[in-house]
Amino acid sequence: MRMALQTREQHIKRDKATSNICTAQVLLAVMAGAYAVYHGPEGLKKIAGRIHKAAVTLGEGLRALGISVKHDYFFDTLSLDFPGEKVKSLSEEAQINFYYPESGQVLISLNETTTLSDVCDILGVFASALGKEAALPDSLSGNTALPESLVRKTSFIQQEVFNRYHSETELMRYLKKLERKDLALNHSMISLGSCTMKLNAASEMLPLSMPQWSNIHPFVPVDQAGGYQKMLHKLEEYLTEITGFAATSLQPNSGAQGEYAGLMLIRAYHEARGDRHRDVCIIPASAHGTNPASAVMAGMKVVVTKTDEKGNIDVADLEEKVVANSEYLAALMVTYPSTHGVFESSIRKVTELIHEHGGQVYMDGANMNAQVGLTNPARIGADVCHLNLHKTFAIPHGGGGPGVGPICVAPQLVDFLPGNPVIKTGGDRAIPAISAAPWGSALVCLISYAYIRMLGSEGLTEATRIAILNANYLKERLEDAYPILYTGEMGRAAHEMIIDCRPFKKQGIEVTDIAKRLMDYGFHAPTVSFPVAGTMMIEPTESESLEELDRFCEALLSIRREIDESTEEMPNLLLKNAPHTAEMVTADQWHYPYSRQQAAFPLPYVSENKFWPSVRRVDDAYGDRNLICTCDPIEAYMESAE
Ligand SMILES: *Cc1c(COP(=O)(O)O)cnc(C)c1O
Repeated sequence: MRMALQTREQHIKRDKATSNICTAQVLLAVMAGAYAVYHGPEGLKKIAGRIHKAAVTLGEGLRALGISVKHDYFFDTLSLDFPGEKVKSLSEEAQINFYYPESGQVLISLNETTTLSDVCDILGVFASALGKEAALPDSLSGNTALPESLVRKTSFIQQEVFNRYHSETELMRYLKKLERKDLALNHSMISLGSCTMKLNAASEMLPLSMPQWSNIHPFVPVDQAGGYQKMLHKLEEYLTEITGFAATSLQPNSGAQGEYAGLMLIRAYHEARGDRHRDVCIIPASAHGTNPASAVMAGMKVVVTKTDEKGNIDVADLEEKVVANSEYLAALMVTYPSTHGVFESSIRKVTELIHEHGGQVYMDGANMNAQVGLTNPARIGADVCHLNLHKTFAIPHGGGGPGVGPICVAPQLVDFLPGNPVIKTGGDRAIPAISAAPWGSALVCLISYAYIRMLGSEGLTEATRIAILNANYLKERLEDAYPILYTGEMGRAAHEMIIDCRPFKKQGIEVTDIAKRLMDYGFHAPTVSFPVAGTMMIEPTESESLEELDRFCEALLSIRREIDESTEEMPNLLLKNAPHTAEMVTADQWHYPYSRQQAAFPLPYVSENKFWPSVRRVDDAYGDRNLICTCDPIEAYMESAE
């Protein structure tokens, strides 16, 4: 297994996508990595050994009671031939849950938190079910139930990182060292267009560390999770109301997964009406890269419709495509406000057209931050949308999830909302589960719940207004220096806008140079080259103060002056060499045609809170195509394979 990470400006180029999923489960992968860093190979072996010993101890105790443990070999899970109904209520009285996969069978799984006294409690439950007295063990068994041939004899995770940080002090400093490399929201605004990097308020995050919320299994019987049930259903209700639809499913774990779920619902809807053949999905050229990917995964054929020179859906072209595919039309996927940051006034005409030809309208709701309280997907005639709770509804996602991409649906689709094989969710004709857990990433739903509860309807609407106002403030301040690619009929942007950096090519400056130079000014780059190559998409959100917006504008305006000193023959090296590291600026040698101060402290505000980039420029596209291993060289693997 390998994790490949690169600098974190977003490169969601449509056709040559290097990444089109903002919400990978990267954070969780990093946490698992940190767990291995802290415990190291010896610690992991010790933990696994203890779990196994507990399972063996339990197996021995159960056999002593005359219960048949099905397998001679096991690791942490015991399968018993035993009638579940005989232990279920006794175990629940003892606050223990077993799993009953079919009648006559009980499955028990232990983990590293299971103690000897837990093992005794479980034995006690079975003993009283049998009306016997259990002989309780006073220590964990020394036996093993692993076949000798499967016991690992080779070493693993020998790299230094897994063998150095085994005290809390060491680990803390290691994590801090990593954190310092990150230009994050706790330093300055991250204006990633389409990604809505807003405040994740401490008060919203607080409940996540409460054991009442965090120490619960996703498959506990529903009647043991009354608090969760109440919170999840309330959240579904709020989202249903906000979108103007009839029902919501919280199951999908990301926006892209929501898209897939929504399209599967549309497929099920057509099939239920005998329209099995409807499989064409029309998608505007400006759509997010996930849209066509999801449609293909849902088994649909993608037909791309043009956008006009203003960036809007070309209604004439759409009409042509719809008529040509009328019989097979399944859906239109449309982003509103558009991925270009514009409220398209033709939107209702577009959705009506699709309905006239028997299709359903999927609205990509990742841009909901421009709508909440002011308008909604149902009003524009959509049938289903996903929301990105990890964008609009305050769940953090800069580190890569976990996300929540719920789908909200019109009445005709409610029946098909996704089910779950263990705990009933979804509609009466539910499509199969979209993710493993019945309510997806239930824990982080608390953040969105708190966000909605604390802001209330007034506050949510005000947040939308400020988000749009902030974007238009940036637009007004920047438009003389940077051409704004698309605006609506009234010359306004929605909650984000695209600045065009292509004209600077003739001065030898690429959009990447501007992105990298922003780091010298203490800012994370906006979204680069999406949805239009050579541009930047800026979304400030409602969370930023006027002072921060002004700092960002000053940085971009100052960079524009630097661009003006650039020519194709002599591109300004301030931009070409960016970002400048501390090592570079403090080196004894300095052979650049500008001063160290211009390089690292280009505006007065910078010196007061300097962020030092930890590396110089990385060629992102090259890095993606040529993975360079920081551990053993590839030859080492080739040798060991030989
Ligand atoms: C972020 C985004 C998505 C995908 O969401 P993920 O959670 O990253 O899968 C889809 N469409 C648009 C417009 C987005 O901005």
